[in-house]
Amino acid sequence: MRDLRDYSLKAHNTFGIEAKCSRFLEYETIAEAQEVAGILRESHTPYIIIGGGSNLLLTKDYEGVVVRSDVIGIQIADDRMTCGSGEVFDEMIEASLMAGLYGLENLSLIPGDVGASAVQNIGAYGVEAKDYIERIEAVEIATSRVVTIPAEHCGYGYRQSKFKQEWKNRYLITHVTYRLSTDFQPHLDYGNIREALRQAYGADDVSALTAQQLRDAIIGIRNAKLPDPKVMGNAGSFFMNPIVNREKYERLAAQYPVMPHYEVDKDHVKIPAGWMIDQCGWKGKALGRAGVHDKQALVLVNLGGATGDEIVRLCQAIQKDVEAKFGIVIHPEVNII
Ligand SMILES: Cc1cc2nc3c(=O)[nH]c(=O)nc-3n(C[C@H](O)[C@H](O)[C@H](O)COP(=O)(O)OP(=O)(O)OC[C@H]3O[C@@H](n4cnc5c(N)ncnc54)[C@H](O)[C@@H]3O)c2cc1C
Repeated sequence: MRDLRDYSLKAHNTFGIEAKCSRFLEYETIAEAQEVAGILRESHTPYIIIGGGSNLLLTKDYEGVVVRSDVIGIQIADDRMTCGSGEVFDEMIEASLMAGLYGLENLSLIPGDVGASAVQNIGAYGVEAKDYIERIEAVEIATSRVVTIPAEHCGYGYRQSKFKQEWKNRYLITHVTYRLSTDFQPHLDYGNIREALRQAYGADDVSALTAQQLRDAIIGIRNAKLPDPKVMGNAGSFFMNPIVNREKYERLAAQYPVMPHYEVDKDHVKIPAGWMIDQCGWKGKALGRAGVHDKQALVLVNLGGATGDEIVRLCQAIQKDVEAKFGIVIHPEVNII
């Protein structure tokens, strides 16, 4: 177990913001997670749990304990993959394809760790982690008990789970089991995947392509439009895409006929927050050292040396403008500490 004091979190948040925590604990095994749970119970200090810090915005030094999983290892049994929560999620996808197990290709290159994938219900190009998660193993902090939680109990929704709500800070996740398919069924009906595959491989029948080709195409699309956090600090989509009722959507659609939208169910429609931010003129603009990415308005970036507060000020200015123009409040997807 790593147990460090007065520790810099700069390498643990993809915004690249300098902030320290009073204590940093990293567990590598279930037994160490149980030990960490004991320390958290006894120390009576506030704590947060992080993975790769790619959905995190630090606004100040953290006067408390930051806990991180470094549980690694991938076990494959038939169509199931059980992965340590500290594994890099994208490396798990690579391993799944090598093992002839399919389903996660559309989630390729999403930064972060396996543990967080089950907390965030990460999603991209029409696929969500919940579609394939079977169960989660964790240590309950209040008791150090090892628990197995079936996916059906996790309250999964769009970028949501009970781990982010009523179970917040209750569990240290140690393993996630994904149930995949031995039969490759590509998901090609979202965004520009088909077109990207046609351009990349010049094939007419794109459904005949391999899982590795689909993964490579997704990586290509993402690299073309999203900034690499190693080059320009960011946390991916800063805001969640709001879901509005149909009545509200129809009023807006009458005013903005080209407004993109995705049907959620018969009563609800999802509107891309990035489009609204762009319409407010924010794309490519900056407030101090915090900026809006010039290719994807949903992504706020650290232009170099920005503080967490500068990013928050930009976030608030955008929220105000979007609400004034569209009557919709957009909420950050990123955890602001
Ligand atoms: C360039 C870029 C692109 C992105 N694209 C996407 C995208 O397409 N789709 C998408 O959904 N997200 C995307 N994201 C957001 C981010 O990658 C995901 O939210 C990811 O799951 C965060 O993983 P992490 O390990 O960095 O978690 P962190 O940000 O460190 O933590 C996320 C949450 O998980 C909890 N957590 C982490 N590990 C554990 C554990 N072991 N036990 C208990 N709780 C834990 C934390 O407490 C926190 O609530 C993107 C981010 C970036 C920087």
